[in-house]
Amino acid sequence: MKASVVVIGAGIAGLSAAYRLGRLGAQAGVGLDITVIEREARPGGTIRTDRIDGFVVETGPDCFFAEKPYATMLVRELGMSERLIGTNDRNTGTYVLWDGRLHRLPEGVVLMIPTRFTPFVTSTLFSLPGKLRMGMELFVQRRTDGIDESLAEFTIRRFGREALERIAEPLVAGVHAGDPDTMSVKSSFPRFVAMEQKYGSLIRGMIAARRAPRLAGAGVPASMFMTMRDGLQEIVDELQRQSPGVSFRTGVSAIAVERRDGASVVKLSDGGHIEADGIVVAVPAYAAASILSPLSGELSDLLMSIPYVSTATVSLAYKKEGFGHPLKGFGFVVPRKENRHIMATTWTSSKFDNRTADDAVLLRCFVGGAAHQDLVSRSNDEIRDLVQRDLGAIMGVRSSPVMVRIKRWMKAMPQYTIGHEPRVRSIEQLTEGLGNICLAGSAYHGIGISDCINSGNTAAQSVLGKLLC
Ligand SMILES: Cc1cc2nc3c(=O)[nH]c(=O)nc-3n(C[C@H](O)[C@H](O)[C@H](O)COP(=O)(O)OP(=O)(O)OC[C@H]3O[C@@H](n4cnc5c(N)ncnc54)[C@H](O)[C@@H]3O)c2cc1C
Repeated sequence: MKASVVVIGAGIAGLSAAYRLGRLGAQAGVGLDITVIEREARPGGTIRTDRIDGFVVETGPDCFFAEKPYATMLVRELGMSERLIGTNDRNTGTYVLWDGRLHRLPEGVVLMIPTRFTPFVTSTLFSLPGKLRMGMELFVQRRTDGIDESLAEFTIRRFGREALERIAEPLVAGVHAGDPDTMSVKSSFPRFVAMEQKYGSLIRGMIAARRAPRLAGAGVPASMFMTMRDGLQEIVDELQRQSPGVSFRTGVSAIAVERRDGASVVKLSDGGHIEADGIVVAVPAYAAASILSPLSGELSDLLMSIPYVSTATVSLAYKKEGFGHPLKGFGFVVPRKENRHIMATTWTSSKFDNRTADDAVLLRCFVGGAAHQDLVSRSNDEIRDLVQRDLGAIMGVRSSPVMVRIKRWMKAMPQYTIGHEPRVRSIEQLTEGLGNICLAGSAYHGIGISDCINSGNTAAQSVLGKLLC
């Protein structure tokens, strides 16, 4: 008889887990009945590419970080390497709004770490004392007490307040929608903490990393951020296509996992249930808390304590003629002090090829996040007006968009706050005690697409390993 495995949640983590289970099961000669349960009508979770009037609109993520290899490895395994594209090298550069003006982030600055001298000293983004303080990072003592600092404390201690206010805070808001005062640097940027320990300075560490030989993959463009020619949805669709033995049940939620006569049973919102020999729970932590509460109140409470924030993406397309802004770069981020509604804007048609026709431009703005949660629940008209007003003030955009798409992502972005690491350790210990149940997804060991794919792979290996015991 085949073993039954249920994957709850068809975001990239759940899809990767189901795909990997199918592959590993076949390799091990184990017959598996794999069912994916997804609340929404379509799989993909926060990855969603819409084609609107010829525009390729990423309503969720628009790329993945190439340095973490799991997404690129998966794309290659799916036979889609030739579909991979990097960012458009003709237009590199990110801007920061400061004092009402867009300043180019100096070349070589990685988050808040300057690694190239000339662009940094000639930058208009920082004051002279700010630059000197950032350069003094080379001489700041490494911290040895192992305390889980906030990103704000860490950045101020090593680089000074300007680095926090003008780069770390807005870049982090643009990527994690997070609050640097509560965000754990150890969990969100473990590489920086490791660099401080190894090199005594992040500037030294970053320069050493840059000199190290790159592991470039054959046929893969060397770009820091990668995506697919027709959008990230391609990966979602292909994962499904290459999981032929997997049964996908969309539009139905898992509401609980219970034990009945020693067996695990997944209860569904349509009144049905599935008996499972193994379960991967790949939903946001608060949803996992509810599903697993019949098995462990303590686990459920810990899962609930991982906070989430809501964001919205606002994609706007314009006719190129008369647009008025050269869009030479990938976009801009907005520090909190600037008091704007937009957290960040990607100049999508400059950042990636193949997103618009030649006679149009496409922008994508982020609103909401830790600093402006309330904005996400405003009406579409209000959000659109606020965004257009900001674009007018910041970029001088006066023309009317020919397409606007607003997508809200409610409680979709987990926040790795101080204490995240021990919290996740306890969650994993308690989950281990529940038998063949594994957690996967953005709540635990990284929110990026690559991390989520890795978490799905790891959960699949673990569930199969326990089935084989
Ligand atoms: C606006 C936005 C922009 C982003 N940009 C980037 C980026 O550019 N690059 C990057 O690497 N990362 C980015 N991220 C982060 C990344 O997209 C996510 O962390 C990742 O896709 C999460 O995948 P996941 O599978 O863990 O969760 P999700 O995508 O949240 O999937 C979870 C799934 O579980 C389903 N579900 C929930 N409850 C139940 C239930 N009870 N029963 C059944 N199903 C249920 C949900 O419907 C959902 O489909 C972005 C995130 C957002 C929101």
